[in-house]
Amino acid sequence: MDIFSSWLSKQKQAGQLRSLTPVIRATDGRINLAETGKALLDFSSNDYLALSLHPEVIAESHRYLDQAGCGAGAARLMSGDLKLYHNLEEKIARLKGKEAALLFGSGYMTNSGVIPALAGRHDVIFSDRLNHASIYDGCRLARAKLHRFHHNDLNHLEKLLRRHRGTGQALIVVESIYSMDGDFCPLRELAALKKRYDCLLMVDEAHATGLYGANGSGLIEEEGVTDLIDIAMGTFGKALGSYGAYIAASQNMVDYLINRARSFIYSTALPPAVIGASTAAVDIIQTEPKQRHELHKKARLFKNTLKKEGLDNLGPSQIIPVLVGDSDRAMTMASKLRKEGIFATAIRPPTVPPGTARLRFSITLHLSNDNILRCARLLLQTLKL
Ligand SMILES: *Cc1c(COP(=O)(O)O)cnc(C)c1O
Repeated sequence: MDIFSSWLSKQKQAGQLRSLTPVIRATDGRINLAETGKALLDFSSNDYLALSLHPEVIAESHRYLDQAGCGAGAARLMSGDLKLYHNLEEKIARLKGKEAALLFGSGYMTNSGVIPALAGRHDVIFSDRLNHASIYDGCRLARAKLHRFHHNDLNHLEKLLRRHRGTGQALIVVESIYSMDGDFCPLRELAALKKRYDCLLMVDEAHATGLYGANGSGLIEEEGVTDLIDIAMGTFGKALGSYGAYIAASQNMVDYLINRARSFIYSTALPPAVIGASTAAVDIIQTEPKQRHELHKKARLFKNTLKKEGLDNLGPSQIIPVLVGDSDRAMTMASKLRKEGIFATAIRPPTVPPGTARLRFSITLHLSNDNILRCARLLLQTLKL
């Protein structure tokens, strides 16, 4: 047996083998299992506002494709710096209330490229324990001294700052809405700390962009802390229904990152069709706040139905964790729900702390109120078994 098959069978025995589930997506956002054709309600999608299927997003994507072709043909610093990237960057800068913005290939590439550009071997990074893997990988590439503070625990962060701030560059990295628990970062208190200890503050708004703030800019806007955030990061792959990512910051910071962020420098620019979709989506979140209000209403419907039956700690957002405790039980429940036509994911250790395995539901505008209620009822039944 080669080392790969022995590794795979070990993972399988431990119930930890991940595998792919091919699905076919209908034009109304429903998904069907490719193998059996079984219809599933998708409670796992980040396409919160259903913008991936919005007619204007699709039309603008077509237009860009027709005008500029399938691929950029080069990195931005070579001959690939199409004017259309600058249009989108200006829009993003305005949306986020910053001087400038810079596009990256994906959120993963943003975090893994920006963090090492900001902190090096002689610097220090303070990172929330529940931060996304792309942030963690960025920290490792940076080779800076890494201090991870307990999730959302600013007392712990301050203790670490007092002890380890040092005299070099110090960077604090957080998410504004955490992808596993759907909870908010206390941005105002954090901004005060950052100021007191003279650190750079980077906030990942992957799950907040499009959904919070008067203009849909994110939680930074909603909390009124724009000026205290040095680097606001966000993605187009979630609520904006497209692909790619960005940071918004000062013009100096952007000019610096154009020169220093390796994932920006050494990678082909995003395809025009993707930029068309993102550009239309940014316009829509600013002009159609009704959609995010509708989404929050749907999330409340789901949570209130569960709360009436005694469930709690369901979080403040459209990402809803339902604590199950035991890993095996979470897996069994997820597969039972799958049989009933509900696609939700079981999140287990080591992704979350031991004993806190959970089912994670995300609410999108693809889901009708009837289907949300149906899911809540099925979930309550499964919990009682
Ligand atoms: C999804 C996600 C990313 C990665 O973004 P992609 O564009 O999918 O690569 C980064 N950070 C957080 C918090 C995310 O949830």
